[in-house]
Amino acid sequence: MSFDPRALIVDLCRQFYAQGWVSGTGGGISIRDGETVYVAPSGVQKERLQPEDLFVTGRDGAIRERPADPALKVSACLPLFLEAFNQRDAGAVLHSHSLNAMLATLVAADEFRCTHLEMMKGIRGTGYHDTLVVPIIENTAHECDLADAMADAMRRYPRSDAVLVRRHGVYVWGRTWVEAKTQAECYDYLFGAAVRMRQLGLDPAAIPVH
Ligand code: ZN
Repeated sequence: MSFDPRALIVDLCRQFYAQGWVSGTGGGISIRDGETVYVAPSGVQKERLQPEDLFVTGRDGAIRERPADPALKVSACLPLFLEAFNQRDAGAVLHSHSLNAMLATLVAADEFRCTHLEMMKGIRGTGYHDTLVVPIIENTAHECDLADAMADAMRRYPRSDAVLVRRHGVYVWGRTWVEAKTQAECYDYLFGAAVRMRQLGLDPAAIPVH
């Protein structure tokens, strides 16, 4: 399937903005096409992004093309996106500041866990009866300082395609942009469901008794 990564990132950012995932210039998405990585600038209105605003880098993060506006700087998320591209061979990585993801980190210790929820089936290698586990790393003052902790969490949780960041949000990836988007939607639903279940006095990781 041929695709235009620039147009796709612009389109997806608009959609993620409407979902509350990238408000206040936070969050974003990066797409890899072979050895080429497309990523948005830092601190821009994600719903107003234009195809020509994007940076193009290699898998090592070296900048190959930059937008015409010299004031624009590459996204602070780039080192984290590169971890998923290089460590997991991801085709796309999404960073969301969704309220569901942020709240999910407040009701769990160092791991998010849930089981017996239909939407778990949208996550790679996960069935309804499994327990879905997502590592939670501690937030830092600067986004780039999260890279080492995220790389470590990715090594310790090889089955997880997401890393939550305490009081911040989540990074989710997939082999393709379609898989990254689908998984991000399923993870977000599950984070929201778990928070609501806690409010109802239910443990999202407990096996239901009928
Ligand atoms: Zn962030």
